[in-house]
Amino acid sequence: MSEHAFIGIDLGGTNIKIGLVDPSGRMIGENEGPTHAEEGADAVLARMARMAEQIAQDHDIRWADIGGVGVGIPGFTDMKEGKVVLAPNLRWKDIPVRDPLSKLLQKQVLIENDANVAALGEAWSGAGKGISHLVCITLGTGVGGGIIIDGQIYQGYRGMAGEVGHIPIVVGDEAEMCGCGRLGCLETISSATGIVRIAKKRLAQGAASSLGFLPEVTAKEVFLAAQAGDAFALSVVHYAADVLGRAIAGLAVTLNPGRFVIGGGVARAGELLFGPVRKAFAEYAPYTVVEKTDIVPATLGNRAGVVGAAGLVSKLQQG
Ligand SMILES: [Zn+2]
Repeated sequence: MSEHAFIGIDLGGTNIKIGLVDPSGRMIGENEGPTHAEEGADAVLARMARMAEQIAQDHDIRWADIGGVGVGIPGFTDMKEGKVVLAPNLRWKDIPVRDPLSKLLQKQVLIENDANVAALGEAWSGAGKGISHLVCITLGTGVGGGIIIDGQIYQGYRGMAGEVGHIPIVVGDEAEMCGCGRLGCLETISSATGIVRIAKKRLAQGAASSLGFLPEVTAKEVFLAAQAGDAFALSVVHYAADVLGRAIAGLAVTLNPGRFVIGGGVARAGELLFGPVRKAFAEYAPYTVVEKTDIVPATLGNRAGVVGAAGLVSKLQQG
């Protein structure tokens, strides 16, 4: 049989990203279009199917040579039933995706939660390539995560594994309410939102900083000020890094991954963030674990979702 390509779809609340991926995990082509979630699930599924056929056509790949279609979903999925249990960004509740899409495309279709899919992408051809046991953490508006064990996504008993953003890590007066309804989650500190919240709170308490002169504090501004040597901004970054390092230490002694891959907008701060995270990890985790575990930046950026979605079907077929 001729060389296969796989189609990965990263379904977002605003945009659908789609990619054609070769058997080594390399992106051959990509495309993007609006989701128009307001038109309802059937219309979105039909649009995904059209985009899939189009991208194969655009790259002169016969439909027969497409090995399958994987979809990353921004919400909770039921793998067994192939349906979306809840995706607030799409306003989907109990929507079957796998079977209807498979019928439209006459291909095998697999779906997964988008954070898990991004982790699989990094494991397949990104920063985790060649590492069989991996934890990916995405630091954006929130904190997402995915766990790869023996090259496979670890879903947990009910598909809830990898929700590292909701590790309850802060106790006492510093613990803030998280979007999940619980106190002191990792996400309340080490996300972009968390970093801004901490900076604003401490500024309001009278801390002196160049950030105090800005009309609006963003996570990027906090990192820029820290880079420029602003002691207050540095203390905020170090606090967020310290809390993340502690969470990583907990994950490391529990799962013993070979590598942690950190992505998302906040991770673009580079060594300014990674330096103190590694230092905190080394302080909190036993030496025997620290020695064999590294912490590196993600390399696929916002392509991780598409590559990983394609990986769902390729991994399965390549066994
Ligand atoms: Zn939470």
